[in-house]
Amino acid sequence: MKTKNIALVAHDSMKHEMTEWVDFNKYRLASHRLICTGTTGKMVRDVLSTSIKELPNEDFEVIRLLSGPLGGDQQLGSMISEGKIDYLIFFWDPMQPQPHDVDVKALLRIAVLYNIPTASNRSSADHLISSSLFNTDYEPKRRDFHSYLNRKL
Ligand code: PGA
Repeated sequence: MKTKNIALVAHDSMKHEMTEWVDFNKYRLASHRLICTGTTGKMVRDVLSTSIKELPNEDFEVIRLLSGPLGGDQQLGSMISEGKIDYLIFFWDPMQPQPHDVDVKALLRIAVLYNIPTASNRSSADHLISSSLFNTDYEPKRRDFHSYLNRKL
């Protein structure tokens, strides 16, 4: 099974929930690679730092991009477009406007466009990680953009 690239993003009020979820699922996640927006990634690294030596994979990578509002969401969107992300776990805050609302919307749009399995809350993330497809080489079907790219202008 190939190592999956799992994007993790959590808005401030959801970060605690994200680190709890990562800690609870660390043995499953450890065979993959986590790609996080900056502050989420810092907190994920912190929560894993005490247990990292117990995990099956010593090379378990937690990559930190820029902080979301400083371009991290856009970096993730770009990675999705380039086929570099397999899952998006994005705990966004439904109660607070964000300074980078447009980036959030763009990231969610691009995830739908490229048919990336996406979880927006903890119960969906639980379902996603416990799916029998999670530990397979499942490749989401990509849309055919041929007619769009060759449209008459
Ligand atoms: P952060 O970004 O992890 O750097 O806080 C999250 C976000 O997109 O709001």
